[in-house]
Amino acid sequence: MKSKIYLSLIFIVVAIVFGIIFLMTKDVQAPQVNNQKTISNIQQAIDNNQNSTDNEQQIQNSAQTFDPIANALSRITKKPFGIFITPKTSPVQPERFQGYHTGSDLETTSEEQNTDVSVMAFCEGKLLEKKIASGYGGVAVESCLLEGQNVTVVYGHLRLSSITAKVGNQLKSGDFLGKLGKGFSSETDGERKHLHLAIHKGSSINILGYVQSKAQLSEWLDSARYLQ
Ligand SMILES: [Zn+2]
Repeated sequence: MKSKIYLSLIFIVVAIVFGIIFLMTKDVQAPQVNNQKTISNIQQAIDNNQNSTDNEQQIQNSAQTFDPIANALSRITKKPFGIFITPKTSPVQPERFQGYHTGSDLETTSEEQNTDVSVMAFCEGKLLEKKIASGYGGVAVESCLLEGQNVTVVYGHLRLSSITAKVGNQLKSGDFLGKLGKGFSSETDGERKHLHLAIHKGSSINILGYVQSKAQLSEWLDSARYLQ
């Protein structure tokens, strides 16, 4: 009789102990599940963040710049951005200018002297101006948004009559802009056949090919940075 009571007591105690252990395990597991959920939420947030970074990347890529002439970088052999020249030191002779060069000069090959060389829009934007200007012959200016900032792009030494877009027209990057002027003619104001490509910060038009101080040069961006 006594042993039956003991057995029953042991059984009850064991049952209670198991019960407690079960409850404790449940309590401990519950926060783990929550933690798991929190971790997966964080992962989701990271993924979402990654997606939006990817989207931003795509937006930046869609606002790409375009080489106005193929192999643009390899054409910069005489006057890069920022070079200080005088009529004596200029790599181009004879020279009539002096100062810091605001653009990059894209040279033409000997085969290109007697054929038309097309110039494409460097970026997407509005054609602000096209005219004949001293030092350039034909020159076009386009407004663009470059890396989030307003700039104006100067295309110097074009044949003015070849620029088909009208002032105010919207150009996409890579659209036909015009043709290079004939070397040593009025189309280039007597200069060799080449493209002067310059980027002026801000929205105001400035077509200066040379400036006289480094402070003034800082108003311009190195166009070669955006060429391939
Ligand atoms: Zn130039």
